[in-house]
Amino acid sequence: ATSFAGRKVALFGLGGSGLATARALAEGGAEVLAWDDNPESVARAEAEGIATADLRGVDWSGFASFVLSPGVPLTHPKPHWTVELARAAGVEVIGDVELFVRERNRRAPGAPFIAITGTNGKSTTTALTAHIIKASGRDAQMGGNIGRAVMTLDEPSPDRFYVVECSSYQIDLAPSINPTAGVLLNLTPDHLDRHGTMQHYADIKERLVAGSDTAVVGVDDSYCAQIADRLEQAGRQVVRISKRLPLTDGYFADGTDLMEAVHGRYERVGFLEGIGSLRGQHNAQNALAAVAACLKVGLDLGEIQSGLESFPGLAHRMEQVGKKGRVLFVNDSKATNADAAAPALSSFPRIYWIAGGLPKEGGITSLRGFFPRIAKAYLIGEAAPAFSATLGDAVPYEISGTLAAAVEHAAADAARDDGGEAVVLLSPACASFDQFRNFEVRGEAFRQAVNAIEGIEAIGG
Ligand code: ADP
Repeated sequence: ATSFAGRKVALFGLGGSGLATARALAEGGAEVLAWDDNPESVARAEAEGIATADLRGVDWSGFASFVLSPGVPLTHPKPHWTVELARAAGVEVIGDVELFVRERNRRAPGAPFIAITGTNGKSTTTALTAHIIKASGRDAQMGGNIGRAVMTLDEPSPDRFYVVECSSYQIDLAPSINPTAGVLLNLTPDHLDRHGTMQHYADIKERLVAGSDTAVVGVDDSYCAQIADRLEQAGRQVVRISKRLPLTDGYFADGTDLMEAVHGRYERVGFLEGIGSLRGQHNAQNALAAVAACLKVGLDLGEIQSGLESFPGLAHRMEQVGKKGRVLFVNDSKATNADAAAPALSSFPRIYWIAGGLPKEGGITSLRGFFPRIAKAYLIGEAAPAFSATLGDAVPYEISGTLAAAVEHAAADAARDDGGEAVVLLSPACASFDQFRNFEVRGEAFRQAVNAIEGIEAIGG
């Protein structure tokens, strides 16, 4: 039984993770009353035997807790109506990560728990960390913002390792979060529509590392650097990581070498040379975070290096899907804005770039610095006119229209390239919704088009 056995819990948000959480609470003996604004989600929950009720019409005074799905507004632009009702009745508002944290603290407080947040690289770092732990023969449970909802993970026990990706929404709803190692990768302006100011967004993210036994903090941006200093001054244990600075203490990347610094003395503790799934400087940051977190929970360097080497990578994030001769085909469909496309563009020297879709504010102007690497651009979707205007005379381009045409033309042009290794890269810097249901479907369409090329050697998938 859970710590919620016999208690009344209200829950709002019956999407995938909300429904899973409602189910886990009910199975754990709680009396759950759930609701969603979407009648289909409510019907689905009812079909599973979850009790539902419009939370506008119920007596809130009996609820022990109110569980809110991540992403339902807690503060910004204004609290969701359920939050206002809960607050008026003095009922605590928490999320599924908080439920998990309480279970772990009660039942197996020593269970190694790594929590990971940041603006970019969360999923990669979470998947990599869980992979390293699993590859070492230990029981790694991965969930949160990636994969399974945390309440559906195997129940806390002292020899189970938990690796949990946390969005800011989840941290905001998890006041007692206290990981063994908390990772804050980086902070750049993003999701400000949901969190108001950058400072507020940074404060939420800081809470995750502030509650950690050890705070692993990427210090390559000024927000995170300040957070690391502040935590240290408050007497917390801080491990700094950097993808570019030779730190005095912490872990940093020197090219593809992963270095440990102790009082200014350096030692190589791992390497990324030849690991295709961790190519690029941004992945050095992700790998360093995984190394620091894994060391903290007791793995040794040999185990960590062998996990780095066998990491298959995540789909749609600079994923190598095929090769033909000297031409590599890379699916970076997850890059739904210009900032997210930058790492891929910086990771390859000669690029046949497929871009476009539903454009975001600012378009691709911030990517100008990468234009010299682009042999030709193949523009798709609604963004094509705007993107072609930005490319102007700086980069040759065509308006391909569809992804299939773009792949076909880019593959043909790249095959004729005699300048060494070339890459056909889908890194659209756009949302997908004008032509695809989501970025995953777009990435799969790319994979299929690549697999259809004559003489292609498929990689992964
Ligand atoms: P998240 O889960 O935070 O959205 P992902 O691991 O899914 O991040 O990576 C999404 C994209 O963000 C990647 O395709 C890559 O372009 C970029 N990215 C990954 N790691 C980092 C990093 N450490 N710093 C900056 N950008 C990154």
